[in-house]
Amino acid sequence: MAVDDYYEILGVSRNATQDEIRKAYRKLARELHPDRNPDKNAEEKLKRVNEAYDVLSDPEKRANYDRYGTADFEGIDMDGFGSIFEQFFRGFGFGGMGRGFSQRGPPLGESLRIRIRLTFEEAFFGVEKEIAFKQKTPCTTCGGSGAKPGTSPVRCRTCGGQGQVVRSMGGFMHVSQTCPACHGMGQTIESPCKKCRGTGLETTRKELKLPLPPGIEDGMMHKIRGGGNAGPRGGPPGDLIIVFEVEEHDQFVRKGLHVFLEMEIPYSVAVLGGEVEVPTMWGVSKLKIKKGTKGGTVLRMRHKGVHTNDGRKGDQLVRVEIKIPEKPTKEQQRILAQLSELSL
Ligand SMILES: [Zn+2]
Ligand SMILES: [Zn+2]
Repeated sequence: MAVDDYYEILGVSRNATQDEIRKAYRKLARELHPDRNPDKNAEEKLKRVNEAYDVLSDPEKRANYDRYGTADFEGIDMDGFGSIFEQFFRGFGFGGMGRGFSQRGPPLGESLRIRIRLTFEEAFFGVEKEIAFKQKTPCTTCGGSGAKPGTSPVRCRTCGGQGQVVRSMGGFMHVSQTCPACHGMGQTIESPCKKCRGTGLETTRKELKLPLPPGIEDGMMHKIRGGGNAGPRGGPPGDLIIVFEVEEHDQFVRKGLHVFLEMEIPYSVAVLGGEVEVPTMWGVSKLKIKKGTKGGTVLRMRHKGVHTNDGRKGDQLVRVEIKIPEKPTKEQQRILAQLSELSL
């Protein structure tokens, strides 16, 4: 199935200026307007003209169209990322949900950032990855309080447990600020736990198995709330931020759920039509070439792109180039000479 040629629809050349495109569009839109044009197909044609104009009048869409034969990457950007993940991290036992904006109590733990490198295939089909990293967890000796076992943190004398002190700025100006003695916790530790020196934290090795869904793209991020370091002295944990890096493939290029491939086809197949074998991520597949296919034509192979867990299927788009024999044999030269006499 060939992709619509938007340039042909608007009747402009591939290097038409924005001005030429706009003029061509206006002319066609007038001609095809249902009030003027009684032809039944006019409405359908107008729809395609509008679609072509929508793409070619937008430089970014046009550039994508020129390169890949399509302007829409239904793929997955950062915002749509949640949908391919379907919250698969649920049930990993990260309970903490942060504390919001309250100033009182022990501070929030640090967020951790981890990079995961995937091969092109792993990102395409999905993969289970095991990762290991160092994480701060509540101290097992003091249970995270930071106070020596048998003792407890006591109310801060400076702020009376409020975590805030009010300072006069002179006159009627007063500002409220975090208590410098307890750093906002409202409590101080008189005899700190020996193991964690009062921080309430220890470092442990954390291992996780991540079932990564198909369709991850280079540069995507995923945040697991509460998956980072525990907070000091029992504070809520920070987040775990995973950044994905996807290796390039030597043949295929991926954009969202689609795969792009540039491929040479023999001159004879381009002229006479036929079938060629095309590599896809799902194996070699046959592709029909129509008689008189031009170089640069983009052909769509349905559902040969990424298949997401929620049932979406990308395509493979193949841009065909015509293979010109560099060193034609005597026999080939003779036949081609005959061809040129027929002024093909
Ligand atoms: Zn401790
Ligand atoms: Zn205090």
